[in-house]
Amino acid sequence: DSVPLAFPSISMSSGERRWSDTTPYASKKSSLFQKLQSWFQLPNGHWELGKIITSSGTESVISLPDGQVLKVKEESLVQANPDILDGVDDLMQLSYLNEPSVLYNLHYRYCQNMIYTKAGPVLVAINPFKTVPLYGNDYIEAYKRKAIESPHVYAIADTAIREMIRDEVNQSIIISGESGAGKTETAKIAMQYLAALGGGSGIEYEILKTNPILEAFGNAKTLRNNNSSRFGKLIEIHFSETGKISGANIQTWKLNLRNAEDYKYLRQSNCYSIAGVNDAEEFRIVMEALDVVHISKGDQESVFAMLAAVLWLGNISFAVIDNDNHVQAVEDEGLFNVAKLIGCDIEDLQLTLSTRKMKVRNDKIVQKLTLTQAMDARDALAKSIYSCLFDWLVEQINRSLAVGKRRTGRSISILDIYGFESFNRNSFEQFCINYANERLQQHFNRHLFKLEQEEYIQDGIDWAKVEFEDNQDCLNLFEKKPLGLLSLLDEESTFPNGTDLTFANKLKQHLSSNSCFKEERDQAFTVCHYAGEVSYDTKGFLEKNRDLLHLDSIQLLSSCTCHLPQIFASLMLTQSEKPIVGPLHKSGGADSQKLSVGTKFKGQLFQLMQRLESTTPHFIRCIKPNNLQSPESYEQGLVLQQLRCCGVLEVVRISRSGFPTRMSHQKFARRYGFLLLESVASQDPLSVSVAILHQFNILPEMYQVGYTKLFFRTGQIGVLEDTRNRT
Ligand code: ATP
Ligand code: MG
Repeated sequence: DSVPLAFPSISMSSGERRWSDTTPYASKKSSLFQKLQSWFQLPNGHWELGKIITSSGTESVISLPDGQVLKVKEESLVQANPDILDGVDDLMQLSYLNEPSVLYNLHYRYCQNMIYTKAGPVLVAINPFKTVPLYGNDYIEAYKRKAIESPHVYAIADTAIREMIRDEVNQSIIISGESGAGKTETAKIAMQYLAALGGGSGIEYEILKTNPILEAFGNAKTLRNNNSSRFGKLIEIHFSETGKISGANIQTWKLNLRNAEDYKYLRQSNCYSIAGVNDAEEFRIVMEALDVVHISKGDQESVFAMLAAVLWLGNISFAVIDNDNHVQAVEDEGLFNVAKLIGCDIEDLQLTLSTRKMKVRNDKIVQKLTLTQAMDARDALAKSIYSCLFDWLVEQINRSLAVGKRRTGRSISILDIYGFESFNRNSFEQFCINYANERLQQHFNRHLFKLEQEEYIQDGIDWAKVEFEDNQDCLNLFEKKPLGLLSLLDEESTFPNGTDLTFANKLKQHLSSNSCFKEERDQAFTVCHYAGEVSYDTKGFLEKNRDLLHLDSIQLLSSCTCHLPQIFASLMLTQSEKPIVGPLHKSGGADSQKLSVGTKFKGQLFQLMQRLESTTPHFIRCIKPNNLQSPESYEQGLVLQQLRCCGVLEVVRISRSGFPTRMSHQKFARRYGFLLLESVASQDPLSVSVAILHQFNILPEMYQVGYTKLFFRTGQIGVLEDTRNRT
């Protein structure tokens, strides 16, 4: 399935029901089972609910909400659910599970501010782009007491806490979605709940205060989101044995991947406004938060000095100095200020920005830079100072939130990470993000499908194997050595004559037989991801994969005497890592090489996956209903594309076909045994359990008896629980 083109949007004011006309129609009903209404897709891709006037078996006459009457082929109609199922809070409850029905159900709820819907085990959250009355202490209390059962981030956080305590297993809440879909807001809402339930020591206050700091330094206004996170974030909240928060740890990725945009943004502001400085109140909040996480006033000053250095770097200009168009940084206010702020000689800075030291065989040579090269060097330096600063801040925050040496309790991790991306033109950034999502999807699949299936088989129950798409082949395409996408990219990045085109050709040469790979014309290639096919344009891949920061710049930064020398400590670390790709040729020697961006990304991803493997995951999929950041519009095509990308429909289908509720014979007998009206001859748990099932008329197709457990289809335990609670 390829990702569909954009569909036209429709606007609905909240509460308006456009698709379901309620005029009585029963009189025309010829049999009880005749369909009354069906979905019909207009030529523009939009689904409309049509009333069936007559049906011949091969053709139907339908009337659409706008009054149009059409004769259509039977097979072009898709079954609609009865009105009684409008707005169910779990998609699993739909009788007909098809794309238009799911879209309709989500929209129906969305119009009434019910932005959360369950899709089996997954929570779907649709960005309201407005304040909705669903949060705050009263709601937190209500979810804690289980007085409200509607799907909510609070409910997910509540389950995570309870399962952490009950099973003594660490938990994770994995939040994904497109830019602007609401991931960061959702993460904050989850943190709110955890802080409220596990609070008391005061550390929860500090944890909540990390948000404005990270957002101030790590977010940027983009076309798609006014407050877009330019980094991935994993926050691990630790709990003591008594269920109280004992500390936290934050891990971020700011993988040079998305900085270019931020940097340009800052540079365009020409040093007159730092994002946030304009806005006095936001700025005060950040400063206060820095105090809360114990960053001293002196260090805070240094932080702003580094920010100023980044902005001044943007102002440095170059002058041509010879006939070969080589340039030199102009000795002006910019150069002077940067040197002063980072604490280096003005001459060293000038040299670093205008030349590149190279080692060719055994000779050291100094190469002068052209204007483009010099500007790249300058931008790379600025980016690198900025990301060092960000990393340093995260480290300080972690110190402040540290759990201490005795890590006895358990933790809940919240992951806020980019979802799968597919644009008209996809580049190295999408390549990395989609690779990460492919891994996360595998985690998701494994958890939900494979583990389930294994459990059924282990318990010996009769359960026709559910086919599920494993995406291992696609991951192999990325990771295989030496003939995988990442390896071939690294290899080509080290070749002196390697270009994006030679890279694309190499892929075609080696990977054509792989079922997840498709050749494209020119320098493009297509990967068949779990969420659909994506064509990547290799333009810029090699440059982006090589870390642009020159060794000269690293040396400069590591020798500078600014007030926060620890800020640049992470640079030294990169240098000592096992090198793979560098700005120099292979002949440059290992000491002048650094890890490629792709390889670093993969390493961090593996670390992340390792941490997640040992947790019980809870998934939240955020959906953006329109590209306008508007509360009024719900674009079917856009929503559908995202639902497909995160596998929501698939997961409902699979969950429904299985037996998601399960309980051991012992537990079942203990929990409901006392409800038995007649005593059972044999008191073993299995016999008691079977007697209960009979008494409550649970249909045989609704459950399975395994060696150790009973397995139920969704919704079957409800009646037992209700009776138990009333008794
Ligand atoms: P990015 O990937 O660009 O960081 P994101 O998925 O983290 O995007 P957010 O920054 O969380 O997106 O959300 C974008 C905007 O949507 C928020 O600034 C806010 O205005 C709005 N929003 C998101 N969730 C909610 C919510 N639950 N209630 C009200 N507004 C929301
Ligand atoms: Mg975000």
